[in-house]
Amino acid sequence: MPLTDFPRHPLTFGPSPVHPLDRLTAHLGGASIWAKREDVSSGLAYGGNKTRKLEYLVADAIAQGADTLVSIGGYQSNHTRQVAAVAAHLGMKAVLVQENWVDWHDSAADRVGNILLSRVMGAEVRIDPAGFGIGFKDSWRQAIEDVTARGGTPYAIPAGGSDHRLGGLGFARWAQEVEKQERELGVFFDTVVVCAVTGSTQAGMIAGFAALEEAGGPRRRVIGIDASAKIDETRDQVARIARATAELIGVGRDLRDDEIVVLEGWAGEKYGIPAQSTLDAIRLTGQLEGVILDPVYEGKSMAGLVDLVTDGEIPRDSTVLYAHLGGQQALNAYSALFTHTAALDL
Ligand SMILES: *Cc1c(COP(=O)(O)O)cnc(C)c1O
Repeated sequence: MPLTDFPRHPLTFGPSPVHPLDRLTAHLGGASIWAKREDVSSGLAYGGNKTRKLEYLVADAIAQGADTLVSIGGYQSNHTRQVAAVAAHLGMKAVLVQENWVDWHDSAADRVGNILLSRVMGAEVRIDPAGFGIGFKDSWRQAIEDVTARGGTPYAIPAGGSDHRLGGLGFARWAQEVEKQERELGVFFDTVVVCAVTGSTQAGMIAGFAALEEAGGPRRRVIGIDASAKIDETRDQVARIARATAELIGVGRDLRDDEIVVLEGWAGEKYGIPAQSTLDAIRLTGQLEGVILDPVYEGKSMAGLVDLVTDGEIPRDSTVLYAHLGGQQALNAYSALFTHTAALDL
C-alpha cells in the first residue's frame, strides 16, 4: 500500500532542514554540497535518524497496546537514547540492553553522552558485556521476557530500528520530503551520501526514491558509506530491507543492483573506532562549517564524501545531499582524541 496509508506518529518538528555547505563546497573545489539535518529536527533528546524511523514503529506499538519499548545497542547507542526519549514522550517505559559494541577504552564510555541521557529520561539501562552485532541477541530476548513476566506489554525494537517490517518506512518518507524541498529550493540532488550500519536508513531512501522514480521522477544515486567494517553484512542488510520496503510501499518492480550501492573504505578497522580520515573529516567540517560530526558514523560518511568528490567519482557538476543523521552525543566518550585544538590550514 502507498506510504501515506501507513499509520505514523509524528515525533519531529516537521521536515528536517536542508541547507548548502558553501565553505566545504569551495574547499573541495567542485560538486555543490548540501546537508539535510536529522540532528536538528526533533525536540526529543536531540533527535537523529532513529527518531524518524520510530514514527512508524511507535504508531504500531500504540496500536498493539504496548506500554514498554525494549531495544538494544552499544553503550553509546544513539538509537537507544532516542527510544528512551520517545518512551518518555509517550508515557511508556523503556528497557535498553547496552552491549559493549566498541573496543574503545574510555573510562567514561558507559557514563557520559547517550547513556547518561537515557538514564536521565528514566529508561532501565542494562549493561551487557556482549560485543558488536546487529542480529537478535539472548540479552534482548531476556529483556522482553522480563517485561512480560512483570505484567507489562513489551514492544520489541531491533538494533537501529532496522530489522523490523516497518524499519524502512521512515526514510522512504525522507525521500518524499527531499523531493518536495527540491521543488521549494529550486535544486535537484543527483547524489545522496549516507552512512550505513544497521541499514534501514539507506534502505528506506532507496525504496522511497524508487517509488518516486516509478511515478515519473528522475533517477539519482544513493551512496551508502559503510561504518561497520563488515561490508558484506551491511550490503546484505541494506539490500534486504530496501527490497522488503519497496514491496511494502508498492514500488511494483524489483530493485536494480545499481540502486543498492554501499561502499567500503572509510570504516577504519572496526565499528566505533575512528580512522585518521574520520578525524580529518570531523575537523574539516567543524572548522569550515561549524557543523559537528561524530567519530562512529557521520565522520566516516563525510570522509567518504570528501574522497569521492576529490577523486571525481562524484563529478564536479553534481549536486550532493549529505544526510546528517545525528550522533554528536557520543563525542563525549571520545574526549581523549580532542584534548588539543588541531587547527587546519584552511
Ligand atoms: C544509527 C546511525 C547511523 C546508521 O544508520 P542505520 O540505519 O543504522 O544504517 C548513522 N548515523 C548515526 C548518527 C546513527 O545514529
